[in-house]
Amino acid sequence: MRYYPQPMGKLIGELSKLPGIGPKTAQRLAFYILGLSYGEVNELSQALIEAKEKIRYCSVCNNLTETDPCDFCASQDRDRSIICVVESPKDVIAMEKTGEFHGLYHVLHGSISPMDGIGPEDIKIKNLIPRIKEGVEEVIVATDPNAEGDVTAMYLAKLLKPLGVKVTRIAHGLPVGGDLEYADEVTLSKALEGRREI
Ligand SMILES: [Zn+2]
Repeated sequence: MRYYPQPMGKLIGELSKLPGIGPKTAQRLAFYILGLSYGEVNELSQALIEAKEKIRYCSVCNNLTETDPCDFCASQDRDRSIICVVESPKDVIAMEKTGEFHGLYHVLHGSISPMDGIGPEDIKIKNLIPRIKEGVEEVIVATDPNAEGDVTAMYLAKLLKPLGVKVTRIAHGLPVGGDLEYADEVTLSKALEGRREI
């Protein structure tokens, strides 16, 4: 015997594929969604489709954006002499929340991980090189404070230093093995302030 009508089972199945959503939470969400009005459900499903249709990656920095180039890359108010390299778009949000960084970003969409067979060519490093031109003085490597983040930072330092740019790494104060996006704003601000040349 099935516990649920088939469409509800399907909804629970889809919801439980989301990160951090176990079967119990999926069931709770499914009941919640069924309790919404038709209009509210329509809005929710439209939001999902619209986000997927309209959001793309910036061709300059690889961040999520509705316009290409993104608002950061297009802005005249950002400091163009400094580029902060992060692993994911979530890290851009974390950095922005500190209110301490006013430069540009570069999103790698991952980190180098020899153990998992992920090399430099598997993440978005290639389009960082042409960005290191006249006027760029510093690249801050803000990859996660773990082994993969360190390997990526060392690789970038080796690659970028010959181009005549200062390469720094934030790490100070961040919990080792942690995830940048989960660092609180004060810790991240301090880590940014205490960055060291590599
Ligand atoms: Zn951009």
